[in-house]
Amino acid sequence: MKERVLLAESAGFCMGVSLALGKLDQAIKNKINQNIFTYGPIIHNPQVLEYYSNKGVRIIDDCLKPRSGDMVIIRAHGVPLLVEEQLRKRNIEILDATCPKVKKAQLLIQKNSYLSDCLLIYGEQDHPEVKGLLSYAGCPAYLFENTKEFRELTLMPTGRYCLVSQTTQDRQEFLSIARELKKKLEKDIIILDTICDATKDRQSETIEIAGKVECMFVVGGRNSGNTRRLYQVARKYCPSCLHIETRDEIDPEKVAGCSKVGLTAGASTPNETIQSIHQYLMQIMSRKSPSA
Ligand code: SF4
Repeated sequence: MKERVLLAESAGFCMGVSLALGKLDQAIKNKINQNIFTYGPIIHNPQVLEYYSNKGVRIIDDCLKPRSGDMVIIRAHGVPLLVEEQLRKRNIEILDATCPKVKKAQLLIQKNSYLSDCLLIYGEQDHPEVKGLLSYAGCPAYLFENTKEFRELTLMPTGRYCLVSQTTQDRQEFLSIARELKKKLEKDIIILDTICDATKDRQSETIEIAGKVECMFVVGGRNSGNTRRLYQVARKYCPSCLHIETRDEIDPEKVAGCSKVGLTAGASTPNETIQSIHQYLMQIMSRKSPSA
């Protein structure tokens, strides 16, 4: 029987998430009478956050909350410079779990924005990573979420611009915006391709699978930027696409009516969740004969 549930090999935890959770696990293991906080959610997945909440890890968004001797872990998608400075002034232990790819984007912005008149950031307005990236800009910055918003910006043809992206944005859209920007401006622009490899790989594989199936499931937290982007990318190639967090959201009748379904997951989705949904889809599909 041909495979009828196409599961993306890239689905699940990326390097940055694994590193951050590894640091948190180690901190929990080593703690002795110490409160552990994360500044913002360590990653964007409700099941993972519940697991750590049951282990006593608390999420804060206030630098004054921890007391002397407590530990604060900086989330995978980083914090604004000012927050980090305020935390470092306190008598607390700080563990930086910022993903190396986000850290690299922050430092690239810091370096290149000083050579530019204006920074253009392709990212989500309210995303914590974007707030962090903006804090590293040494020049005025414009933020836009999509091509439409980019086209609405008033740009000076002779200005020196630097284009950068949130690490989890749509790569195809970023490249097309970069091409458009080059045509609009007279001076050379600095293009910082800061979309991480994990995002690139997941998006390419999602596009490949979405083009072959009748229905596609994208699994991950609804507040996860990279999962939302995967969903948006998949929907362009497979209109019958759903963003789900758990298998309870799957309608078996809808799946049973398909000859092939696709499954992918964001970079913060645990393997157990992906496997459980994969098994469930296989069960539903096996109830239907391949020739039906
Ligand atoms: S999605 Fe990319 S930037 Fe975000 S944690 Fe994973 S590797 Fe890092």
